[in-house]
Amino acid sequence: MTYPQLYMIINGEKVSGGGRKTFTVVNPATGEPLGELPLADPADLDRALEVAEQGFAIWRKAPAAQRAAVLQGAARLLLERADDIARNATMEEGKTFTEAKGEVGMVAGLFNFYAGECQRLYGRVLVRPEGQRATVTHEPVGVIAAFAPWNFPIANPGRKLGAPIAAGCSVILKCAEETPASALAVLQALLDAGLPPQVAQAVYGVPDEVSRHLLASPIVRKLSFTGSTVVGKHLVKLAADNMLRTTMELGGHGPVLVFGDSDLDRALDTLVASKTRNCGQVCVSPTRYIVEENVFERFRDGFTERMKAVKVGNGLEDGVQMGPMANPRRPDAMERLVADAVQRGARLHTGGERLGNQGFFYAPTVLSEIPLDAQAMNEEPFGPIALITPYKGEDAMIAEANRLPYGLAAYAWTGSEQRKQRLSHDLESGMIALNTGMVAAADAPFGGVRWSGHGAEDGPEGVLACMVTRAIHEGI
Ligand code: NAD
Repeated sequence: MTYPQLYMIINGEKVSGGGRKTFTVVNPATGEPLGELPLADPADLDRALEVAEQGFAIWRKAPAAQRAAVLQGAARLLLERADDIARNATMEEGKTFTEAKGEVGMVAGLFNFYAGECQRLYGRVLVRPEGQRATVTHEPVGVIAAFAPWNFPIANPGRKLGAPIAAGCSVILKCAEETPASALAVLQALLDAGLPPQVAQAVYGVPDEVSRHLLASPIVRKLSFTGSTVVGKHLVKLAADNMLRTTMELGGHGPVLVFGDSDLDRALDTLVASKTRNCGQVCVSPTRYIVEENVFERFRDGFTERMKAVKVGNGLEDGVQMGPMANPRRPDAMERLVADAVQRGARLHTGGERLGNQGFFYAPTVLSEIPLDAQAMNEEPFGPIALITPYKGEDAMIAEANRLPYGLAAYAWTGSEQRKQRLSHDLESGMIALNTGMVAAADAPFGGVRWSGHGAEDGPEGVLACMVTRAIHEGI
């Protein structure tokens, strides 16, 4: 299976070699190296900044129809290239080919939605007496420094590029060094669809060095970051020095409230599929199962049975439902979290171990009755671990859901319409899924509250987050 050559893209040119340091990209299913990724030196970053500044001057003046045509063209090219892009994503990230191909479709859908939004960036005309006029307009914010992680190697760069391009901004994109080929393919589709090369640059490097360099530059006007809360807090502090605008899509600890009046089999089928998606390495992954005591045993046993049946393997093989974890840090973290929970008295029902003798596989794992002070009940596991605990009464269940400072996605399963309405008000979360596993769509804002971050991606909100609002007062 071939894996593409790796490079950075600056001003449309493929940049590599020249004595630059490199990062070895590894296949998480085998642990074998796939390729060498060149890393930016300070001169590369300065060049990317200079080009991005030119890109903004060009793109802020580009007509909406041109911006829309680029996004639509890129969506078409991504779908044409979907098999190749998805195969490379599976090789570098580990997720199943089906999931990776789904990501390509998601980005194509997002680009098409944003192509429509280009034409809908309206302002407001205020009511004024004769002789006066006042309008409210939205202008693109400027050069955006965007940092995206490895867990959605195609969708994350798609999100980081789509909204700024719709808004008329330019972008310097630093995606995860672990999954570069996917991000390069998304940017290449945009360039092939006619995006002026100055508008989007892709660089790689030592993350802390790149973010410090870019965020210190007066050329950058906005930080957009997806990743862990701890890194997000650090970057917001750096961004404060230049008072940058920020969109922060950070970690979560997805609570799932399961009530006795729900359709338990439907809930279980949906929740196990969501839990094992991308081996649990999903910021909106359902994690803390807060189960009404009268259905606790049925739920725990049904969950365990389904987790045992999940077929784990190389994501390129037919029938595999869950691939490896993306890097060796993740199975290490799973071992630490499970050992700590069990040592504190949690019950292990299945999993709790690495699988195979190569790659970074970890078994689908179910723990129950986990003490609240266990690390896994407080730290985002970011892995295939389900934490199931019985609770008595709706108030106690909501209190547990809101116990942690995170608020990205919350899930609830219930047959009661009144309860759904209460939950939609009372769960402190940016996204709430009631009797469904779906929390994202091209036309809906995606983002968290509290320590899960602020600002939204996707939806009209995602484009507005790349714009500044201005009021213009006129005497006429
Ligand atoms: P990490 O926190 O070191 O890195 C997360 C991402 O941030 C990576 O893509 C990394 O390249 C980037 N990053 C790290 N330091 C940076 C810096 N100073 N400047 C710019 N970018 C920086 O953790 P990790 O080991 O890669 O992932 C583990 C944790 O990260 C998980 O437990 C999870 O909480 C979080 N995570 C969240 C998401 C998400 O979608 N919100 C995605 C991936 C990882």
